[in-house]
Amino acid sequence: MIVDRCRLCGGRDVQVVVDLGFHPCADTFLYPEQLRDMEPHYPLQVALCLGCGHAMTTCVVPATDRYQKYDYSYDSANSPVAVDHWRDLAADVCKRYPLSSQDLVVDIGSNIGTLLHEFKSLGGTRVLGVDPAPNMATLAERNGVPTINDFFNASSAAEIRRVGAPKVITATNCLNHAENVDEFVAEVAALLPDDGVFVLEVPYLLDLVRQTAFDTIYLEHVNYFSVTPLVGYLNHRGLTVQCVETQEYMCGSIRLFIRKSGSSDASVKRLMEREATERIRSVETYERLMARIRRLKRDLNQRLYAVKAAGGKIVGIGAATKGNTLLNYCKIDSDLLDYVTDNSRYKVGKLTPGMHIAIRDDSAISPDITHGLVLPWNIAPYLVQKLKHLKIQFVVPRVEQ
Ligand SMILES: [Zn+2]
Repeated sequence: MIVDRCRLCGGRDVQVVVDLGFHPCADTFLYPEQLRDMEPHYPLQVALCLGCGHAMTTCVVPATDRYQKYDYSYDSANSPVAVDHWRDLAADVCKRYPLSSQDLVVDIGSNIGTLLHEFKSLGGTRVLGVDPAPNMATLAERNGVPTINDFFNASSAAEIRRVGAPKVITATNCLNHAENVDEFVAEVAALLPDDGVFVLEVPYLLDLVRQTAFDTIYLEHVNYFSVTPLVGYLNHRGLTVQCVETQEYMCGSIRLFIRKSGSSDASVKRLMEREATERIRSVETYERLMARIRRLKRDLNQRLYAVKAAGGKIVGIGAATKGNTLLNYCKIDSDLLDYVTDNSRYKVGKLTPGMHIAIRDDSAISPDITHGLVLPWNIAPYLVQKLKHLKIQFVVPRVEQ
């Protein structure tokens, strides 16, 4: 489906500002035998709404293809950095809104239940998850987190209602995956009691632009949020952003505390002003972003080919989803990377989508490897420390601003 109107305001004045060519779904890691089948590729473009400033992919892959056709491989406990983040989030919410053992916390896009597990441990609350990926919902149940295996929609909202009215609804790195923002927000508003809070965390468009984090653009991410359009959109639906915090997680995110009444504090105004100052709604901002993306591609390839020409051997470190945007856009295949290493049981033994580079366990890095291309660059310090005993040189794909 090609989008020709803004997913937030409905306006038709949308312009493509980032074009990364054709890509497969970044989270669809493949078993070797799946190479016998066609691997669908779609245009990976981001369009900017010139009306409200929201950004979105132009091509939407059906959600069932993204989350249910293949085993979903993102696991919310995939690194100590991730687990710490969920623990801090649960602690932050419990500090702001004291919860009792009778209160219900619902997490939308709950994955294997890592965040809800923290709420259970910290606040002793009742918890309920909703997640469309069958393998992740099964693991969550095994982890003691009751989970509705479905997309968040009118039907799963009705199931939640039968359990109770959630005092807290969390959705982290989830609304950016949702093609029907209207339905999502309407169901949250209908579920939330007057004294409830909706905690929304999404990757932040301003950080994407600032850090040239173009690899956080992939087909699973259909929305790229900034504060200004989101605040206006939620206000129209009877929801107020009480406050917003920036987070380093996912290469830069915003965490919004949203309620049915009250007013916004200074944090909201501050970020809206920053977005205006940094011209996040200007097409020229994205022309400069595209120039930096092209420069990164050229410089990274030059460096990798120079290593190969000098007889070096390179592996990819960390089969992160975002790494697949980088590999596919920069056309880095198994001629350059011998393999990619990871410790996720959902990825080892599979191939990266598009470039089809084999994924091996972290422990498989052989002594002849000279260089490691760090794919999840946002956790590079952690990975470099973890693998420093290998005495290889690390290449972190970044570009000077
Ligand atoms: Zn718009």
